[in-house]
Amino acid sequence: MRHFPVFRELRGRRVVVSGAGEAAVAKLRLLLKTEATVIVYGPDPHAQIRRWADEGRLIHMPRPVDHGDALCAALVYGANEEAQEDARAARIGHAAGALVNIVDNLDDSDFITPAIVDRDPVTVAIGTEGAAPVLARRIKAETEERLAPSLGTLARIGQGFREAANALPHGRIRRRFWSRYYDEIGPRVLAEGGEEAVHAALDALLVQMLGEDRENGHVALIGAGPGDPELLTLKARKALHEADVVIHDRLVSPEILELARREAIVIEVGKTPNGPSWKQADIDALIVEHAAQGAHVARLKSGDPVVFGRLDEEMDALDAAGISFTIVPGITAASAAAASIGVSWTKRGRNAAFRLLTGHDIAGFADHDWRSLAQPGHGGAVQPAAIYMGVRAARFLAGRMLMHGASAETPVTAIENVSRSDQKIVATTLDRLPDALTEAGITGPAILFLGLSPRQAMEASDLIDMPATGVV
Ligand code: SAH
Repeated sequence: MRHFPVFRELRGRRVVVSGAGEAAVAKLRLLLKTEATVIVYGPDPHAQIRRWADEGRLIHMPRPVDHGDALCAALVYGANEEAQEDARAARIGHAAGALVNIVDNLDDSDFITPAIVDRDPVTVAIGTEGAAPVLARRIKAETEERLAPSLGTLARIGQGFREAANALPHGRIRRRFWSRYYDEIGPRVLAEGGEEAVHAALDALLVQMLGEDRENGHVALIGAGPGDPELLTLKARKALHEADVVIHDRLVSPEILELARREAIVIEVGKTPNGPSWKQADIDALIVEHAAQGAHVARLKSGDPVVFGRLDEEMDALDAAGISFTIVPGITAASAAAASIGVSWTKRGRNAAFRLLTGHDIAGFADHDWRSLAQPGHGGAVQPAAIYMGVRAARFLAGRMLMHGASAETPVTAIENVSRSDQKIVATTLDRLPDALTEAGITGPAILFLGLSPRQAMEASDLIDMPATGVV
């Protein structure tokens, strides 16, 4: 970040604009939103500048800027559209100790003016360091659309009510007061009854919330999906944003944790295969402890919490403690993995059932009904299945499958780090599986698909061809 965004106080300060043409008009449209005294220097001014001067919104001096003009100015703009004159303005500004901006000249400017979404007193400033004005415009348009025009009015009224609201205890109750005001009551009452009604509604809400008992905690057991934040549900996003405490698995990606509020307490309760791990009972106790103190807890699990997520233990612990919870489903790793290689879990004429298996359970490598897994289904191939936590168990499970009669040629596809930038796909066969995983360096979380290979077209374009093995 070459430029650091700050909001500069301009009340009672002077802003000097050198130049009185088109470029100056563009900057003045923004500057006139402020409470600064704006002085424009330049002969032969643009008609708009003359109008603003007549309206008393700025002072126009029909001559070039000169030494002494920038004394005590907070900002000086060089908007002459002429390099020499701008450089002269910059020297005058710097001599007076002001910050200088030269229009359309990043390198000679002390600061740059961002694109602005104005909901005064709420201001959104958008900067791209001059790299992508198109992007800035798009973000501005999207933000304009998202922020209701009434937001400024609501914020101004809210600002006047801050001291009164301090009667509520600091922390989540006060936060909830403001969320209810900005999210529900404020916009509705403003639309129905105008500003006066909003004042009354704020008074009523405060009285109501002062009378409420201490809030109960709540836990949202959330599926965070396989890693790509775009694969979060809107519900998950909302619950995450509302949480006071975020308790997450190791596999929940940093990009998703970024979506938590800045003040939220974030705790990782990772379980590493063969590494240091949190015990499930301690995780249960931790969730209960925070919720019992009245916190809203977001318990983030990778994928979908209902798939190999130890969900039931956590629900039981919450029930036992009398704490309410909701489950927010997510996209399970095998679902996103199927999308990555362009295959379906089920396909008419191929398989009418699909199994989710774990390669590992509490006792170690998980045992399954290998005979039924190895049995050929429709068309002679094994019934497709997704294996979670199967990488380290690969040699064991390939051995069991072969022993129970599965064909050595049975296709197996491993997809590591599904939906993340470091996703890897290995397409191989049952007999080659353990070696193919080692050769491809698959060590992270992966889904193994038994009996499924990547869709032909994808295979050709995305996979490096190896005899019976492809790796991306
Ligand atoms: N609840 C999770 C599964 C948790 S068990 C879900 O629904 O996806 C952990 C296993 O999930 C890992 O060993 C791996 O097999 C799989 N997994 C989780 N995230 C993954 C990812 N991004 N890519 C591939 N596999 C993943």
